[in-house]
Amino acid sequence: AFVPAVREPDRPFRRGRSLLALPLLVGGNAKGVLVLIAEGSGFFGAEERAVLNGLANQIALLLAHSEEAEELSYIALHDRLTGLANRALFDERLGQALKGARESGNQVAVALVEIRRFRLISESLARQEIDRLLREVAAGLCRALADPATLARVGRDTYATFFYGVGEAAEIARRIEDGLDEIAAAPFEAEGQSLELSLAAGIAIYPGDGRDAETLFRNADGALREAKAKGERYIFYEPSINARVADRLKRASRLQRALPAGQFVLHYQPRVDLKSAAVTAAEALIRWRDPEDGLVPPLEFIPLLEETGIINEVGLWVVREALRAQRLWYGAGLGVVRVTVNVSPIQLRRPDFVDRLLAIAREYRDPSAPSLGSLGIELTESVIMQNVEASIEKLNLARAMDIEVAVDDFGTGYSSLSYLARLPVNALKIDRSFVAAMGREPSAEAIVATIISLAHSLDLRVIAEGVEREEQALFLARLGCDEMQGFLTTPPVPAEAFAALFASGRRAAEHHP
Ligand code: C2E
Ligand code: CA
Ligand code: CA
Repeated sequence: AFVPAVREPDRPFRRGRSLLALPLLVGGNAKGVLVLIAEGSGFFGAEERAVLNGLANQIALLLAHSEEAEELSYIALHDRLTGLANRALFDERLGQALKGARESGNQVAVALVEIRRFRLISESLARQEIDRLLREVAAGLCRALADPATLARVGRDTYATFFYGVGEAAEIARRIEDGLDEIAAAPFEAEGQSLELSLAAGIAIYPGDGRDAETLFRNADGALREAKAKGERYIFYEPSINARVADRLKRASRLQRALPAGQFVLHYQPRVDLKSAAVTAAEALIRWRDPEDGLVPPLEFIPLLEETGIINEVGLWVVREALRAQRLWYGAGLGVVRVTVNVSPIQLRRPDFVDRLLAIAREYRDPSAPSLGSLGIELTESVIMQNVEASIEKLNLARAMDIEVAVDDFGTGYSSLSYLARLPVNALKIDRSFVAAMGREPSAEAIVATIISLAHSLDLRVIAEGVEREEQALFLARLGCDEMQGFLTTPPVPAEAFAALFASGRRAAEHHP
């Protein structure tokens, strides 16, 4: 280590001494002064001066080096983007805290926090905006949750912190919950969109969940994966999580091969006209025939397909497959049944989304039955709202080509009515939670009635989802709802079963209120 100040012994300055002051220049800046004092006046001759000058330069060089070394060690231990500690420094600090905890018998909670659907979000943002987002989340975490001295950025969108001397799990949970809520309350504004951030956390506690930094980190990470997979805000580590994390990883890697391996299947659920009982359309709902776990429902794998981007290809496969079923039914005497597909935000974001739909529909057109190839798409409000102007443009294009556009799960988002009036859509599908609540909660009936009259005033068709009971169908018919869909008619079934059920159209009539 370099000691910059060499002091003259505390003696008063006497007359007859010779004094030489040499500046220490580091990178052109004066970083100090080397002062040499010698007995006797005129002590420093030209030669001595030259030697001493060289000495001053060497000291300056040393100084420069030590600064650089400091900077290097700073870079090695910090994240450049946010200025937070990095994984190495986090491990070191956590190791220190654990040492203290070991001696004092305290608990230490390690929490990992990640931005949910980060890959999805970052797809729609420019690089600088992503960086700004990551910095804002870091700042939010400092403000709302973590002591900046313990917060670190340990992955692309992963932050880590620890709490020393924590008490009950409930107390930690409350702290984390409050912190995450506060951050989520401030949406991220970028490029004219307002993004709602949702954070997920995984927590592991010393000493129960691990005795060293490495194990605690790994277990907090397992809990974080679990929280993300389950859509929970936070999860505390428990040993059974390890097995599930491993299972999920294996399943995710099997899913990569599902499309070429022909493991996806579509089931179809009819939409039925509440007045005439005719089948008006069939919604295609995807399932994955996983060789290990059997038939997997879409909510368990669609998010994974979205994360990896495979959803684009799978989405096109769905359209093709649904149009194949349409042709099959036509051949079986059902007439042309419009098929509708669910569209993920990732798909809609592609500029060529509508073109690709149309290209496939064209393949299935038939001069003798021109309406073969008849398609519908279902999108949730939030998907459309993510990029309203671009969505409107695409949906206009789709509608112009006779693709029916329906807002799915209507009522669960919170798009403003003025927007709804502007959206080029044909139909609203009332979310099944409202249908289920009818007859149980008085407000649900009022909501359903309002949605129906609102939709009609905007000239939209209304489809009630999740109709399971006869009374629900009766009530909906009375309110003027146009169509229904649900277990009352039939759960989603494979294409062949669909043909068998509706070949004569009689089955639908049986359940007509
Ligand atoms: P969704 O579009 O709201 O589809 C309706 C869901 O409700 C389906 O679940 C259906 O099986 C279920 N359902 C129908 N009738 C009833 C009923 O009477 N009672 C109850 N309790 N449930 C009923 P499923 O098939 O598990 O699909 C779940 C979600 O997965 C869909 O919700 C849709 O958002 C998504 N999904 C399905 N297929 C695809 C696809 O090909 N692409 C994309 N991106 N998403 C899909
Ligand atoms: Ca749907
Ligand atoms: Ca729905």
